[in-house]
Amino acid sequence: MKISFYGAADEVTGSCHLLTCVDANKVERHVLIDCGMFQGEQMCSTKNTQKFIFDASKLDAVCVTHPHADHTGRLPVLVKAGYTGTIYMTEPCEGLTRLVLEDAHHIMEEDAKKCGSPTIYELEDLHGVFDQTKQVSYHEQITIAPGVSVMFHDAGHVLGSAYITVEAEGKRVVFSGDIGNDDVPILPPTDPISHADIVVCESTYGHKVHEDAATRSSLLREAMVDALKQNGVLLIPAFSIERTQEVLYEMDLILRDLKTSEPIYLDSPMAIKATQLYRDFKEYLRFKSPILDEPDRDFFSFPNLHETLSTDASKQINDAPAPKIIIAGSGMMNGGRIMHHLARYLPNSSTTVLVIGYQAAGTIGRKIFEGAKQVSIYGQVVDVRASIKAIGAFSAHGDQNKLTRWLKPEDGVMPKTIFLVHGDEDAKMEFAEHLREELKTDVVIPKEGTTVEI
Ligand SMILES: [Zn+2]
Repeated sequence: MKISFYGAADEVTGSCHLLTCVDANKVERHVLIDCGMFQGEQMCSTKNTQKFIFDASKLDAVCVTHPHADHTGRLPVLVKAGYTGTIYMTEPCEGLTRLVLEDAHHIMEEDAKKCGSPTIYELEDLHGVFDQTKQVSYHEQITIAPGVSVMFHDAGHVLGSAYITVEAEGKRVVFSGDIGNDDVPILPPTDPISHADIVVCESTYGHKVHEDAATRSSLLREAMVDALKQNGVLLIPAFSIERTQEVLYEMDLILRDLKTSEPIYLDSPMAIKATQLYRDFKEYLRFKSPILDEPDRDFFSFPNLHETLSTDASKQINDAPAPKIIIAGSGMMNGGRIMHHLARYLPNSSTTVLVIGYQAAGTIGRKIFEGAKQVSIYGQVVDVRASIKAIGAFSAHGDQNKLTRWLKPEDGVMPKTIFLVHGDEDAKMEFAEHLREELKTDVVIPKEGTTVEI
């Protein structure tokens, strides 16, 4: 059995892992786990334009852990490259992936116009992905190719997210996808691993320990109160999936207490649509709240929330006097409506930017987060006088403690090898060291494009 690391190995984004094994007739079988976009730069100027190293038409099956673009963004490219087999994912993941891919296609068209190169796939390839999609339930053992079966488990990362156990050649390999944080107030906890021979594990925050859930709520409250007090603008760049819904949920609880009527804008068509999917798949959620006894309650709305779907409605936010709170995508500040608000409000010292998610290298979000005094937005130099705050606990990723706990299987037998992917180099090095010490097992940091025999 072999695993090839074709993305999220030398960086965080672009998740794409190929498992190759043989069936009972010694025929090679190829299963791809995720097929994500490399993020951080314009799509048309990155590795996203390069051909797959493997032959897409020879794959037996594709499994998708969750809808984020860095795990799904190149699925249409796979179809374009000749993949005609089944793409497995959970039902909510399918709905959210559709949103993500449509949004990515739109951004790509804009980018392609700017840099003059063609888009990396067409709309028909995007539709092809969903023609080939088969929905799976958690904890259902399914045979996806001769001699290969998989099971999806709740990863507690976003609605419908999964880590995937692959069984073949008598071995059990776990692909983590992205593992959720502890105590996410709207999601069930991550399923424990029962047994694993090999784990391919994300390491986004393998070197960090997040604040706890209570701290994040009080930090959000503090940021809201401060912004309102100084008559300022609070900008919350949020990923449309999960982070936005968590923020809305927490704000709802905070507002019950604060009783303020200042406007709060959800200024992202994608986040508005994703929030609707969260409502539609309520049975996948788990609310930790004193308002649970209100069964028909919409946990993602409150009276002063304005969902600005149209461009005109979005523009009108500018006319509303401060104080105001604007939640908009993209979460890494590398596109979307947040860019207009950053251009307008970053030069004001009364503005606060609240960073609540991972900022990939190369993004404007990362520059702002690291204290840049000026950034370039739409070719204009913008001074940064706003104060920048961050709440780590809003991360949708487990921290070092969570990942370490998750990596200890219930049967008490440590995985023979843990491969660390999906992390910055320093995070992976530190986490590997920690795991070797804690779990007394082999920890490997694979290089991109390499194949290991297991
Ligand atoms: Zn993710």
